[in-house]
Amino acid sequence: MRTDTPATRTLAIETLAIDTHEQVIHVTDPATGLNAFIAIHDTSMGPALGGCRFWPFASEDEALADVLRLSRGMTFKNILAGLPHGGGKAVIIGDPRKIGTPALFRAFGEAMNTLEGRYTTGEDVGVSVADMQHVRETTPYVSGLDSGPAASGDPSPLTARGVVAGMRAALEHRYGLASFDRVKVGVQGLGHVGFALCGLLHRLGAQLTVADLNETQLRRAVTEFGATVAAPDDILAARVDILAPCALGGILNPHSLPRIAAPIIAGSANNQLSDDEVGDMLWRADILYAPDYVINAGGVINVAAESSGHYDKRQVMRQVCRIGGTLQGIFARAKCEDRSPHRIADEIALERLRAARALQTAA
Ligand code: NAD
Repeated sequence: MRTDTPATRTLAIETLAIDTHEQVIHVTDPATGLNAFIAIHDTSMGPALGGCRFWPFASEDEALADVLRLSRGMTFKNILAGLPHGGGKAVIIGDPRKIGTPALFRAFGEAMNTLEGRYTTGEDVGVSVADMQHVRETTPYVSGLDSGPAASGDPSPLTARGVVAGMRAALEHRYGLASFDRVKVGVQGLGHVGFALCGLLHRLGAQLTVADLNETQLRRAVTEFGATVAAPDDILAARVDILAPCALGGILNPHSLPRIAAPIIAGSANNQLSDDEVGDMLWRADILYAPDYVINAGGVINVAAESSGHYDKRQVMRQVCRIGGTLQGIFARAKCEDRSPHRIADEIALERLRAARALQTAA
């Protein structure tokens, strides 16, 4: 059970020297159990933006490795989404159901203040809109709230919309198809994004095969969308036109790759490739992979609008739909250069990052 504890003054903040990142801090607060890393990867494009993940990491080393990787990924994601933001991320170590108290989130907010607005946080795995409201009690550097002048709420439905835009681009590139009618889609994970994605695809006429560990979500998908259920171990091998990983990272690896039957992979999960070589293997196997940080940017586009102080839903929707155009360009270049789309996306991000850094140096 989550219980509240009084606010404390036991916050300890240590700055870590990590030369690949602009700033990394380790925050501990014995009174609330807060043990977190916050990493700012790069602010050349603007103040860093990225969510806060709450997870029972096996060790501090594992949590640190994750925050470094995720914050770098946010730099790339924000660049490809055309946002005026750099990349940052926070991870809190522990089981959110056991230690995720309002006091812990308030202490986390106090730690955010020490970064003086160079990083704005938001929801990620294990953190809810309600949790972020508690962070907001102690810091202004938080987005994804459901109250306030520019509140944008849960980013997941917008992430799902971006995934649909990306799937559309993939269908068009691969088959010249402009419609989802009777297109078979396998969705792994029926959480915040996966379930919303199923709803959108069902309305567009797609036929769904779904997998999750949560029986209730599976039953809902069967009742509401007429979905077919696959066992968690079988979804990767499902005979579908598009596979949408919407659960775990690292799901595309040398072990899983031979089992994948879908000619297109397009889903929301972060860090789907266990490593870059797996992306190359997918390309050689004639499987079109939509780079995860490009296709799943809908949520951060939504959050960035809130951060700007002027939330305009229609403007956000237009920006989210542009994910499709970005992917079309990446797929076309991949075909032309005979290289995996993830290599092309990385290259575009790095080119833009170098240009922004050069401008900063010249200024
Ligand atoms: P979530 O925690 O709400 O949902 C994840 C779902 O996956 C849960 O229902 C869980 O039961 C299921 N799951 C876990 N292990 C599974 C397995 N082995 N097989 C099948 N299902 C399994 O998370 P979410 O917010 O929906 O995010 C999903 C993914 O998308 C994550 O990787 C997240 O990092 C990424 N993402 C989310 C957003 C967002 O706006 N929420 C934005 C960008 C990226």
